[in-house]
Amino acid sequence: MSNIKIFCDFDGTITNSDNIIAIMKQFAPPEWDAIKEDVLAQRISIQEGVGKMFSLLPSNLKDQIIEFILNHAKIREGFSEFVQFTKEQNIPLYVVSGGIDFFVYPLLGDIIDVENVYCNQSDFSKERITITWPHTCDDQCHNECGCCKPTLIRTLANEDDVTVMIGDSITDLQAAKMVDTVIARDFLVKKCEELNIPHQSFETFYDVRKEIEKLVEVTT
Ligand SMILES: [Mg+2]
Ligand SMILES: [Zn+2]
Repeated sequence: MSNIKIFCDFDGTITNSDNIIAIMKQFAPPEWDAIKEDVLAQRISIQEGVGKMFSLLPSNLKDQIIEFILNHAKIREGFSEFVQFTKEQNIPLYVVSGGIDFFVYPLLGDIIDVENVYCNQSDFSKERITITWPHTCDDQCHNECGCCKPTLIRTLANEDDVTVMIGDSITDLQAAKMVDTVIARDFLVKKCEELNIPHQSFETFYDVRKEIEKLVEVTT
């Protein structure tokens, strides 16, 4: 038996595009764009930026936002088959997401067990949407990630596990630096090339499955 553990991003990795950006484009007043620019330029942390963006939205939009996301977001090809494959192989698969519970869980539906999903949470009890952060950075991470992927990997993986990170963007980079195997698409590919981080690239989860099959072969 292999001791592979897989960590997989959600937005832009399991889904075809970024759901926070889609929600802001559809519902937020124009100020959201400056907050996004501040995050990208690293003038403010991801946690601060995401919190600020959602605080622009009234809580009573909840149902409309969920409906919008369910109608617009698409799960990447091969994902549910990939989850089945990991179950058959007894390979733990964790979703580690900077997304928010109210869209992550409905989009995943029953494809994957909820106890394997780690993301930010939301509170709609006040006038505006408040994001809460159950998985913040440990004392080894100072990025204010919001949902801290390096911290989750340190918590969930053991020394002798063969760790895999699947992701698409800058928010997966610190995790990519820690793991044994990186499977990347889009911006994360560029970053890995720039920093000489060995990686495989993917477009669908059928591609991901092939990489994991190779890994199973060399680790058993
Ligand atoms: Mg992503
Ligand atoms: Zn962190």
